[in-house]
Formats: sequence, C-alpha cells, structure tokens
Amino acid sequence: MNWEVVIGLETHTQLSTRSKIFSGASTAFGAEPNSQTAPVDLALPGALPVLNRGAVERAIRFGLAIGATVAPLSIFARKNYFYPDLPKGYQISQYELPVVQGGRVSFVVEQAGGAVTKTIRLTRAHLEEDAGKSLHEDFVGLHGEKSSGIDLNRAGTPLLEIVTEPELRSSAEAVAYAKALHGLVTWLGICDGNMQEGSFRCDANVSVRPLGETRLGTRCEIKNLNSFRFMQQAIDYEVERQTALIEDGGTVIQQTLLFDPDRGAHGETRPMRSKEDAHDYRYFPDPDLPPLVIAPEWIERVRAAMPELPAAMRERLTTDHGLSAYDAQTLTATKDVAAYFDAVVALLGAGHAKQAANWIMGDVSAAVNERGGDWSSPPIDATTLAALIDRVAGGRINAKQARTLFTELASGGVASPSSANPRAGGFEARLVDLDALIAERGLEQISDSGALEAAIDDILARSPAQLADYRAGKDKLFGYFVGQAMKATGGKADPQQLNALLKGRLAG
Ligand code: ADP
Ligand code: MG
Repeated sequence: MNWEVVIGLETHTQLSTRSKIFSGASTAFGAEPNSQTAPVDLALPGALPVLNRGAVERAIRFGLAIGATVAPLSIFARKNYFYPDLPKGYQISQYELPVVQGGRVSFVVEQAGGAVTKTIRLTRAHLEEDAGKSLHEDFVGLHGEKSSGIDLNRAGTPLLEIVTEPELRSSAEAVAYAKALHGLVTWLGICDGNMQEGSFRCDANVSVRPLGETRLGTRCEIKNLNSFRFMQQAIDYEVERQTALIEDGGTVIQQTLLFDPDRGAHGETRPMRSKEDAHDYRYFPDPDLPPLVIAPEWIERVRAAMPELPAAMRERLTTDHGLSAYDAQTLTATKDVAAYFDAVVALLGAGHAKQAANWIMGDVSAAVNERGGDWSSPPIDATTLAALIDRVAGGRINAKQARTLFTELASGGVASPSSANPRAGGFEARLVDLDALIAERGLEQISDSGALEAAIDDILARSPAQLADYRAGKDKLFGYFVGQAMKATGGKADPQQLNALLKGRLAG
C-alpha cells in the first residue's frame, strides 16, 4: 500500500514587542522568575487587559507579507482550561474571527529531481497571549524540598499563531516551510526567531492516508517542536508509527503527542493527553476587550513602511542578476545575509552578482557557520569582500590567493584592511588597503607570459618521463604539469593563462 503523508503546521511566533500583549510588563527573556508580572498577568481580581498596539501592527505586517486579508474587525475570545501556569483559568486568544485570514507562503524544497518551489495556503494567523512556565526540574522550594515552581514572566507575552492548511506532504516540506516562515517573520522584524528561547515553536499535525484518497486521515498533533531537526525526526517517526499501525489492522486515535529526542534511534513521540476538541474549551468573546477594529488607513500606513520582501528579492535576483532559484533562496534565507549580498553587489555592480553569490554561499557562509551562523556580523565586511572580488576580477590576484587572503582576514590573522582605518570610508579607500596587503604578502598574480613560459620550460625539462607518457596519450598528466607550474610560481600563476601556455607548449 502506498501512503500519502498529510501535515498541517501551527507555529507560535513570539512578537517582538517590548511589553506584553495586555499589560505593560516587560517581555525580556531570562529575568528572575516572576519579576516581570503586572496585575493582569497575575490574574488579580479587577485587573483589566489593554491591547498592545505594537502587537496588532506586527500582525498586520505579517498579513500583508503573505497576501492575506487583514480583518477590519476581529474578536478576542476566552479559551478556558485549567493549568497551574494559567492563573486566569483562560487564555485570551482569537477564535472565530482572527486578525489575519488566508494568505500563502512559498518555499523551495529539495527533492530527488532537484529543487522545486512549492506554495501552500495558510488558514489564519491569530493574536493570543502566552501562558507562564512550570519549573519542574531541580526546582528547590522555600524549605529546600524538591518541588515545582511557576514563573509568570512569560504569561501575557504576545504570540501570533500561524496555521497552515493541511497541504504539506513530507517532513522535508514541513521543514522547508518552517524555515521559510522563520526567515519571513525575522525579515519583517516581528519576531526575533530565537528558537532556543522559544520565540518560534511549531506544532505538527500529522496523518496518513492511502494514496488517491481525498478524505483526511485521523491526525496526531506533536507539540512544541523548537528545532528544525526535531521537527523532521518527529514527523518521520510519527509517519512510520501511523502507517505500521494501520497496516497491522489498527486505527490511529487522535491525540496530542510530545517528541522525546533522547528515546530510540532518532527520537520518539509519546502521548501527552487525548486530543481535546474546540468545544471542550468553551470559547466565548472576552467581555473585557472590545472588538479589534483596524481602519484601512492603518493598514495602508503599515504597507507603506514594509521592506522589500524575500519573495520580491528572489524575483529580483533571478530576473535581474540571472541567479538560480536555489541561489536566490539561499541568499534570502535571512534578512542579514540578503543585506550583506546587496551591499557587496552595490559596491561591485550587477555584473559581479554571480561572483558575489558564489563567495557568500561558499567561503563566507562556511566561516559564518563556524562562528555560530550569525550573519549580522559577518567575518569580513561587505566592503572588504567586494574589494577581494574586484581584485580577482581585475586579475591582480587569482582565486586561490583570494581564498587564502579571505581565510586570513576572516580569522582575524591580520588586521582587516578596512578596520585599519575605520574612518577612511568608501570602497576606494579600503581597496588601497587591500592592495597594500596583497603587495606586502607578495600575492600578485603572475600573468607575465615570459615568467610563466620560463616556469613551464623548467618543469618540462625536469619531467622527461611524464612528458613522454603525456605525448603517448596519457592526457591526465596535464593536471600534473599545471600543478607543478603552480607550485613553482608559489600558487600565483594566472590559471587561465597558465593553461593556455601549457597547452601550446605541449602541443608543440
Ligand atoms: P486545533 O489543533 O487547534 O484543533 P485545527 O483543527 O484548526 O486546530 O487544525 C490545526 C492544524 O491541523 C492545521 O494546520 C490543519 O491544517 C491541520 N490538520 C487538520 N486536520 C489534519 C489532518 N487530518 N492531517 C494533518 N493535518 C491536519
Ligand atoms: Mg492545534
């Protein structure tokens, strides 16, 4: 039997407001427990919620970015349930009328036949408050006893819950979507994207059905996946479990699962609770909050302040710069890498976009990843990278020497020419510094044909056996001669010229 995998994701993105969604308490992460709690967050009797305008503005931004309808009127509702970290006994959320309705997200997913672009529809995105946190592990009570504690600092933190239609068809698609969404919300500046701190966490709803079946199978929901790797593992495990269960004659029961990465070979899911239905929550409009009315003028003001979106930039990179869809996706994965690319190309001119892309996705990316993946402070600044590319394009150094220089500059082994005089400013001023470094290191490319010919003659004279073999048809030895000549010139030969001269000499 062939099975089709069906996945829908619900993503909780913590909005980057300084204060909470219904109170003035700070949302800063990592403070002393219960030090950031206003009366509303503590559910003190009589305390009333007041909606944070910044949270709404961020929801509007998101809605516009995904081409959704920003509802002119939406309603806050009470979602009732009991849990120690929820002192009110209900969470304020949006239910029947969410602020963002519909919309689409596109992403590139690697498949057997190559990278393809897929677009899925979103159901909705609604504003809600986060709950507090229960501290179970190693928590020592007032009298030194082992106990559990409640930290309400997170209670009332603004969340935008983003819900997809059940249109994802594999764990790879789910991860690609989640990465694209993460890229988008951080690009828009509405979420800091910090997954370790829980600013971006996903619930994956997973079901399977026989290929060709149009009705949905029974789903299970895996809660709180806070890394892309765990998401992939959890979905793969769940798909295996459900298909094996059905093939053995069993039926999937709808439930809520937790993923435990430390169990089994690649982690396992296990039941957390039976799945509750919407009616269990006894949703009703919160009488403490008026309907949220968003005037068209507000939407237009937000629209006017929108940055260029990743999708538009990808279009620009493929159309104007002739880059591949894959390159465009990689270069727009985060706002920081996109800004870095744009800065380098702005200095060099569009004609060098492909070189800039190759450098950024190659050596620069490797160096950034070694340093923890933060593109906001790249290992060499855009100006220095542009200068390096310019010196290769202009023939002053060859690509290999440029990479050596890059490694040295990136590791801080030499003072970056641009940091030598940070006030000098401008591409030209720094270019001169890089030139000075090239001269000082003696890295200039040798493209003088006399010097290269001399080196070639010398090598051929010292390699009679290889020369005979080559002439007898061992073509592969060409690489040997190139290598020897490169070595003789200290790696500085202009590779194209060297190839051409060598071919000429060997043919003669
Ligand atoms: P809740 O989880 O709060 O009950 P919904 O019923 O709206 O909410 O569904 C939440 C998510 O589950 C959505 O992303 C939706 O696409 C997805 N989903 C719903 N049914 C299925 C199914 N049978 N298989 C996989 N995903 C599903
Ligand atoms: Mg759910």
